[in-house]
Amino acid sequence: MKIGILSLQGAFLEHEIKCAKLGVDCFEIRNKGDLKTGFDGLIIPGGESTVIGKLLRELDLFDIMRGMIGDGLPVFGTCAGMILLAKNILNDDRLYLATMDITVKRNAYGRQRDSFYTVGDFAGYGKIPMTFIRAPYIESAAAETEILAVVDNKIVAARQKNQLVTAFHPELHEDTCVHEYFFNMF
Ligand code: GLN
Repeated sequence: MKIGILSLQGAFLEHEIKCAKLGVDCFEIRNKGDLKTGFDGLIIPGGESTVIGKLLRELDLFDIMRGMIGDGLPVFGTCAGMILLAKNILNDDRLYLATMDITVKRNAYGRQRDSFYTVGDFAGYGKIPMTFIRAPYIESAAAETEILAVVDNKIVAARQKNQLVTAFHPELHEDTCVHEYFFNMF
């Protein structure tokens, strides 16, 4: 199994460390050529969705990546990655890859200083650490979307077929549940 990690901006390095810890081969996707090298799954990290979205277009990665996800490539988006995958964004006119039937709210918990840590149940794994950094949450999801975590009545993790998203940053903790869940989707 080989994972491509979108490495244009944001917390991509932490995902690489997580892959290494779980013994999963990974590489950084930085340009169009990287997308053609053959891989089994994609991670879109947290960061700034507007910046990553702009770079995806400027570097001509956008259409290819969107097509690959549409064709069933397993993808895991954290935080900004979740925003990039959402088909609806409540408080932003822009849309990005728009492959997943979720409606998200950006910066839903407030500003940087409102970032927080908690523990919450994830997909039957029990309680796991969750760090939210200028995080979005999922306001609503299509019926076929599986809700994997809810914190304070807000959906913070979900899956639709080949697409997994979390509003929080599992790559920042020792816990490996969410990445294991992703690798089990293959
Ligand atoms: N607030 C950021 C955005 O809108 C997401 C923050 C994050 O990825 N930690 O893209």
